[in-house]
Amino acid sequence: MTTKPKIAFFDFTSCEGCQLTVIDLLQTHLGLLDLVEIVQFREAMSEKGEDYQIAFIEGSCTRKSDEARLLQIREQASLVVALGACAHLGGINALKNRWTIENVQTYVYGKNGKDAYESYPARPISAVIKVDAVIPGCPIDRYEFLRIVQLILQGRKPRLPDYPLCVECKFKENACLNTLGKPCLGPITRAGCNAICPTYGDGCEGCRGWHPEANFTYMREILRGHGLSDAEIDARFTMFNHYQFQHMGDEAPITTPLSPLKDEPLPTSTFAAPKEA
Ligand code: SF4
Ligand code: SF4
Ligand code: SF4
Repeated sequence: MTTKPKIAFFDFTSCEGCQLTVIDLLQTHLGLLDLVEIVQFREAMSEKGEDYQIAFIEGSCTRKSDEARLLQIREQASLVVALGACAHLGGINALKNRWTIENVQTYVYGKNGKDAYESYPARPISAVIKVDAVIPGCPIDRYEFLRIVQLILQGRKPRLPDYPLCVECKFKENACLNTLGKPCLGPITRAGCNAICPTYGDGCEGCRGWHPEANFTYMREILRGHGLSDAEIDARFTMFNHYQFQHMGDEAPITTPLSPLKDEPLPTSTFAAPKEA
């Protein structure tokens, strides 16, 4: 009898939607459990096995104490897979990097916020540990998860599409939203989700990260054509990819500051900040 590879799921700063996608997938693809043994998956089971070979990590690293836990997982696992945009790119968590941590903590948790919760600028897990494979998206695409797991189990290295989302969108024979007056980041976004958002009439927001030849200058021109200001375009570019632009430094195709300005206020929100006790 062959032993099944043991896999484990871990979550850091995230909404847990990518793990939920895996659970949902298992409802229709239970056969996956014939191939692997899940030893730890907090969202799905109470057992907590520490003997695993493959670790799927969801979420960004957003505090000092995350680092030790990430290093511990890396030490145990032969293969580490970043699950979803938060782990892969920093994702929407890295939007807070625009402001000082004190400013964000006070905004979210009130005037004693900075003492209440540990926090620092959000990063993808690859900023702390070596990552062997990535499953992009917010949330992940379940069929891509399945495909990548199959490749890993066959001992093959998964590769992501290196072409733009528009290619998949054209295969689906969708009318282009950018020609219909709706902004879409498909020309600069990495394919692989089967152009799901444009197929349902919503512009792509770049949750899978950029493809290698992304032309931001041309994309900005298209978005200006929709009447968007440069600040609004920057907001779209950075929604999932703030961390990547921060690390491009002066090369980042962005017109607004990416790093914290000391006393810059956070934008007003339609959501009320929690009332202080
Ligand atoms: S990538 Fe999106 S769906 Fe997945 S955990 Fe992060 S916020 Fe949630
Ligand atoms: S709708 Fe978006 S993804 Fe589709 S062809 Fe147009 S720009 Fe590309
Ligand atoms: S269409 Fe764009 S925003 Fe939507 S899932 Fe695909 S990459 Fe993400």
